[in-house]
Amino acid sequence: MEASSFFKLSEQIGDEIMSSLSSLEDWGKADGHPGQYKHDVIADEIATPQLIAAGLGVISEESEPTGLDKSFVVIIDPIDGSTNANLGLPWYALSLCLVHNEEAVASFVRNLATGETFIAEIGSGAEKNGHKIVVSGVADIENSIVVFNDLPTKHFGWRQYRALGSAALDLCKVADGSFDAFVDMGEGLAIWDYAGAALICKEAGAKVTDSESNPISYKPSTQRRQLVCAGSDELHNTILSLMSQ
Ligand SMILES: [Mg+2]
Repeated sequence: MEASSFFKLSEQIGDEIMSSLSSLEDWGKADGHPGQYKHDVIADEIATPQLIAAGLGVISEESEPTGLDKSFVVIIDPIDGSTNANLGLPWYALSLCLVHNEEAVASFVRNLATGETFIAEIGSGAEKNGHKIVVSGVADIENSIVVFNDLPTKHFGWRQYRALGSAALDLCKVADGSFDAFVDMGEGLAIWDYAGAALICKEAGAKVTDSESNPISYKPSTQRRQLVCAGSDELHNTILSLMSQ
């Protein structure tokens, strides 16, 4: 599948989910897996059938994997930050990552509350709302704003921190230079949480690895990974060494 076709399909899915959520009254829990909300199910029911119909394999947070033998597979989080959505906080996103031969080739992440949209194609850079984005390049921890998934037990020496509850959007805000780094101090992220945004970060110039400095894998897996993403190699190295102390 061409990246342009993937972006077109992603736009359509994003538009339909936003339209459907705009009239949703009950943003409560669903009766599926623990932590699943009604809005997660609605978004998945819009997205997954369209991806399958386009001939793609699908790995979704909200349904069983399907078509993993296809040459192109989409890793999707129908809503990343579902608890924010439940709380009425405008920080939750649709995340889609197109994978070919276990390599991410294109990504689409949209804030479903605001419509802000991030895309990237491998080798072609990253964009927000159609404009090229790059990382901040901040090298020193004392000048950095770090966004966390779960908090560290000690202060790393950052200038400021945030904890906002949507890894996909948090990572995209490292890609556009708003934050200088993203650090997961929790149990690790599932592949659908980070796949889309990790490519956007890389294409914007960020360094993204797991907490043991391994490159990000897009191979279908249930393994969780602690991601570290920074807008400069220096800051990335500093954070990895602080985490290991
Ligand atoms: Mg989700």
